[in-house]
Amino acid sequence: MDYKSILKQYWGYDDFRGIQEDIITSIGQQRDTLGLMPTGGGKSITFQVPALAQEGLCLVITPLIALMKDQVRNLRDRGIKAIAVYSGMTREEIVVALENCIFGNYKFLYISPERLDTEIFQQKLRSMKVSMITVDESHCISQWGYDFRPAYLKISEIRKLLPGVPVLALTATATPEVVKDIQARLAFKEENVFRMSFERKNLVYIVRNTENKAEELLHILNHVPGSAIVYTRNRKKTKEICQFLNQQGITATFYHAGLQNDIKDQRQKSWLTGEHRVMVATNAFGMGIDKPDVRLVVHADFPDSPEAYFQEAGRAGRDGNKAYAVLLYAQSDKAILRKRISDTFPEKEYIRKVYEDINFYYQMALGDGLGCTYAFNIDEFCHNFKHFPIQVDSALKILTRAGYLEYTDEQDNASRIIFTLRRDDLYRLQEYNADTEKLIHTILRSYTGIFSDYAYISEDTLALRTGLSRQQIYETLVLLTRQHILHYIPGKKTPYIIYTCERRDTSRIHLSKEVYEDRKESFERRIQAMLEYADAKEQCRSRMLLRYFGEKNEHNCGQCDVCLKKHQSGLKQGEFDDITEAINAELKAHPLSAHELMGKLTYDKEKVSCVLRYLMAEEIIQESDGKLILTKS
Ligand code: ADP
Repeated sequence: MDYKSILKQYWGYDDFRGIQEDIITSIGQQRDTLGLMPTGGGKSITFQVPALAQEGLCLVITPLIALMKDQVRNLRDRGIKAIAVYSGMTREEIVVALENCIFGNYKFLYISPERLDTEIFQQKLRSMKVSMITVDESHCISQWGYDFRPAYLKISEIRKLLPGVPVLALTATATPEVVKDIQARLAFKEENVFRMSFERKNLVYIVRNTENKAEELLHILNHVPGSAIVYTRNRKKTKEICQFLNQQGITATFYHAGLQNDIKDQRQKSWLTGEHRVMVATNAFGMGIDKPDVRLVVHADFPDSPEAYFQEAGRAGRDGNKAYAVLLYAQSDKAILRKRISDTFPEKEYIRKVYEDINFYYQMALGDGLGCTYAFNIDEFCHNFKHFPIQVDSALKILTRAGYLEYTDEQDNASRIIFTLRRDDLYRLQEYNADTEKLIHTILRSYTGIFSDYAYISEDTLALRTGLSRQQIYETLVLLTRQHILHYIPGKKTPYIIYTCERRDTSRIHLSKEVYEDRKESFERRIQAMLEYADAKEQCRSRMLLRYFGEKNEHNCGQCDVCLKKHQSGLKQGEFDDITEAINAELKAHPLSAHELMGKLTYDKEKVSCVLRYLMAEEIIQESDGKLILTKS
């Protein structure tokens, strides 16, 4: 079947958008391909359509578990067989999933990069018929990227196990050096990049200097109607800002990674449906969320990088209608940003100390530990060893990068069950009491595919549907597990630590330049770029962001706060810049009289004279023999 019919059949769309078709054709011809598309550009279709057009299984490597589950659900809703494997699943669950990929005619296997070099995966991979590898968020493979994840480096090993299988790398954020790096690290046969402009013409970028962010936020929300997201850095503040807005009569709800899954779902829904107008959230919110009519994204705190800013701000105005991205900027933000550098990169000695304390905490002897997995309670650890969570979190991330541990703060392990009896046997057993029977029936009605694969369940939902208490549900499921009727894995909300190599002597913990200094330096550079963005007085903000991503853009947006600011000439800054550029281009080519110059430019003559007067007063342009020339600087 051709690509367009697949698009029509499964998604109902008539045509591809932007560069989708170019990417699909390229990967369809088995060429390694890198696709750069802004968020909302429609990346998923670029691998889903060609994968459906070929025989075999498409391997999709992606780091975010929540997003993975979303996509799998999405594909299943369209009648496409898809499955996910990630850290936090039990071994049995992983085996079931992987065998489904071999025997079950599955089209998509989503896998987190950490699982790639496990023995079980590599062994099962040999029996799979893989058609293509998709690497989502592929900037994570680059040390220079803002979100480097060492596990991504394992992908090139997987490529060696799958000779001839092409790779499609996708990202919504990459500076020019990252674009090169992605292709090199994924061992592209030849460079092959498709990019779509990242310009968002309907998005108005604004920076507001203010010492009272709450007031300013309120002011903005009162002037820009419609759905909004407010980003803040810390979890406590999401609640505080939300309460403040509620007091002011604005419907708001809040979201962060520490909330229960069902609460997250509920809040997300109430915001999506417009029941709550404003979502106040940390950066845990937004990935994979596709709400087209967000009119405003306000950052109450600075993100760590232009990459993150662009992604988050870009959630406004996906429907193409005018929308605003506002960054609130107080005097103290500079110092706060600098502190983030030392929080994210604590001293090496400190990192070693955390490693030592972790070994104490788990009573790990020298030389032991390889492969051991432990639930990690950061608050308890910090309490016992007198640390602060922020620095411990950073130290563990650096130790992860250096390969000593694997630390995941992913807190997304919902409860799961699978029936271990076959359906017929289940009905043959008749000795259940009424409550148990009700529960089993409710489970069978609520979840599908539960005899062949683990299904996510919610005890709360089951309680609601059966009229039993949450505790009764829990106890019954534990009992049924003991009776080997089903297998129940209660949800857990703890992060964990895996020893990826045996415990070393602390003095031998080596943090290389690549792992530490280089990363710190690029972190600093991004913070600096963020400050430059906020401090800019004369450069169009949209242009600044695009330039950061290596996109040459010849015109000002004409609508950001810089463009709209009055220039001393009396014109708006954006107009002034555009006309100045046009004049420069003409006069560089040859000297012209004022009259000749006017004739060549398409701008309003009044405005051109105004700019000319200004440039001459500033001696940027001179007159010589009746002709205008640029003053040599
Ligand atoms: P990204 O991953 O790039 O952020 P998605 O793949 O989630 O974007 O797509 C964004 C939205 O655009 C989705 O709702 C998707 O269904 C829609 N979309 C993608 N391609 C097309 C198309 N060719 N025509 C219409 N809508 C599309």
